Amino acid sequence: MSRFEPATVNLEFDKRVDDALRDQELRANFRGAMDFLMGKRAAMFPDKEDLEALRSQGEAIRNRCLSQLPELLEQFEQRCTENGIQVHWAETSQEANAIILEIMHKHDATRMVKGKSMASEEIGLNHFLADHGVECLETDMGEYIVQLADETPSHIIMPAIHKNKQQIARLFNQKIDGMEYSEDVDRLIGIGRDVLRQKFFEAEVGLSGVNFAVAETGTLCLVENEGNGRMTTTIPPVHIALCGIEKVVESLQDIPPLLRLLTRSATGQAITTYFNMISGPRKPDEKDGPQEVHVVLLDNGRSRIYADKQLQETLRCIRCGACMNHCPVYTRIGGHAYGTTYPGPIGQVVSPQIWGLHTAGAITKACSLNGACGEACPVKIPLADLIRRLRYESNNDEPTTVPAPRGQGSLRKRSEAVTWKLWALLSRKPGLYKLALLLATRLRALTPKHIGPWTLYRSAPKPAARSLHELAAQRSQSNASSQEHGRNE
Ligand code: SF4
Repeated sequence: MSRFEPATVNLEFDKRVDDALRDQELRANFRGAMDFLMGKRAAMFPDKEDLEALRSQGEAIRNRCLSQLPELLEQFEQRCTENGIQVHWAETSQEANAIILEIMHKHDATRMVKGKSMASEEIGLNHFLADHGVECLETDMGEYIVQLADETPSHIIMPAIHKNKQQIARLFNQKIDGMEYSEDVDRLIGIGRDVLRQKFFEAEVGLSGVNFAVAETGTLCLVENEGNGRMTTTIPPVHIALCGIEKVVESLQDIPPLLRLLTRSATGQAITTYFNMISGPRKPDEKDGPQEVHVVLLDNGRSRIYADKQLQETLRCIRCGACMNHCPVYTRIGGHAYGTTYPGPIGQVVSPQIWGLHTAGAITKACSLNGACGEACPVKIPLADLIRRLRYESNNDEPTTVPAPRGQGSLRKRSEAVTWKLWALLSRKPGLYKLALLLATRLRALTPKHIGPWTLYRSAPKPAARSLHELAAQRSQSNASSQEHGRNE
């Protein structure tokens, strides 16, 4: 999948899942990777009580910050402005793209290097910039690999996790000039770094995501392992940070517990190699850093999510990816099968709310409601409950007092609607109900043996030879006649 196409999510979901299930190599890649990540996370949290206490702390911090979100955003804007960071507000992905392009134009810039940013995937930034003549190069190694393969990330933390060593070796061999086929991981990474190093110096603008935005100090916090984030935010003269509005926390004190949860849940690391804090452009006495820093605060549906008390829990997410690693469905079909920027359990909750149930509601089907995602979530998001609600709303219109997710009831099939109406009618008319039962039991031989995919792995349901009413009537009749018989004797 080379470009995220919202229009195809619902339409092609079943086919994508089928294709993924047939791809044995893909399944093996995911199985191995997810087992590895689950093991690493478990090793980081040996004491269950400590883990629960930390999860409760994380949940409480995120809830407190969300409860003051409007005020914190205003405070964050004010502090950033005082620090010399230029703040922009984008209500939609189109607005965010336009703001970023305008900054590029202001600097006559045609080259951008990007640190890892799922928000930029969400707004389709790379393709938008390419369509406007801007080269936008991914610098996170996983993102670089998927960009080279003309694909989208298949995991929010590890974008290229669907590929094994041999596939990456083939890709580098095909796409990088002069690169011989090599399965030596150090060599592959070394070559990638050589390519990227040059690009860091050539780019006029660097763009990054934001893990936490601190309102108290106007600080942008970035977690990463490869150093590419630091290069992206330090070497080019202009830095743009793209930040979802829910990422704001109240103070620097909120960061350590969240960081502890994030790195351990995501990659099973006690701490990441780099933790970058950016509080403004380069000062006159400083040796490095950008001369201009911008932050684009992205809404793109988050205000609507915020307005609904239950769905607001979605916004606690710190994008660690643990829910994906623990999801039995994601582990078998991989990220691309969802067809959305955000896959897995958190994707099933975020994507239908951002793009609407009529566009992405179908992915809520890919859940067995086993609850493993919610158990793994470091900030206790009740993912299964939210998925169940969005799945229900995809098929039903629910009157609500707050703005409902767009596309309510859009997945309800006409045949299903007619069946339920008929059922409701029969349930209200006892005479008709009895007649329908009589027909169903007497004509049971005509029941279809195949009912679409339902009967691929199950037998078709068949009405009983006699209805419960008939059996009960028969039994009371035979009881009555045996009592009669007893009295006569
Ligand atoms: S929903 Fe929870 S587990 Fe999933 S990415 Fe967000 S914080 Fe991590």
